[in-house]
Amino acid sequence: MSNEHRLLLFEGNIVTLAVDAIVNAANKSLLGGGGVDGAIHRAAGRQLLDECRDLNGCRVGQAKITAGYKLPAKHVIHTVGPIWSGGNSKEPEKLGDCYRNSLAIARDMGLKTIAFSAISTGVYRFPGLKAAEIALTESFNHVSTYDHPAQVIFVCFDAKTRAYYEEAWTKIHPNA
Ligand code: ADP
Repeated sequence: MSNEHRLLLFEGNIVTLAVDAIVNAANKSLLGGGGVDGAIHRAAGRQLLDECRDLNGCRVGQAKITAGYKLPAKHVIHTVGPIWSGGNSKEPEKLGDCYRNSLAIARDMGLKTIAFSAISTGVYRFPGLKAAEIALTESFNHVSTYDHPAQVIFVCFDAKTRAYYEEAWTKIHPNA
């Protein structure tokens, strides 16, 4: 399979995916929140919160892995995206770190399939197109270098987010 075909878009709810890991857009406490974080904790059940309590939080750009509990996904990788504050506070670099560090955990654990939420693009207000470009660039670089994960899925919760990924893909791979 070509490396381009190892990246996929899925429009829908991340908690429905039976993959090796879903990536949660968490906050620094790792103790749950709104948006996709709340949806993942509700679907996974109380045991996820119990495991997260032992992780002592997570810094922006870093990632930590837990089990998936009641989710169809085997694991949850929790990463903390940057809060957008105009773009001059290294927000793009920090968002890139989220993707690189999550993919490195998946690689080190030999995971085959990983599904990312659109980190930072909700309450944290990171511009959607720019975020999609970073997600696709970092993931393409990773799959071009490593065998694991074999497949990277970008979960778009709505049509607008999907359109950003499609536009970003065309910018990055005009002939693909
Ligand atoms: P952040 O605080 O990092 O911005 P949010 O959870 O507010 O995180 O939003 C991140 C993205 O996740 C947004 O694009 C939002 O539409 C999307 N989202 C919210 N709920 C779900 C869900 N159940 N599955 C997939 N994506 C979701």
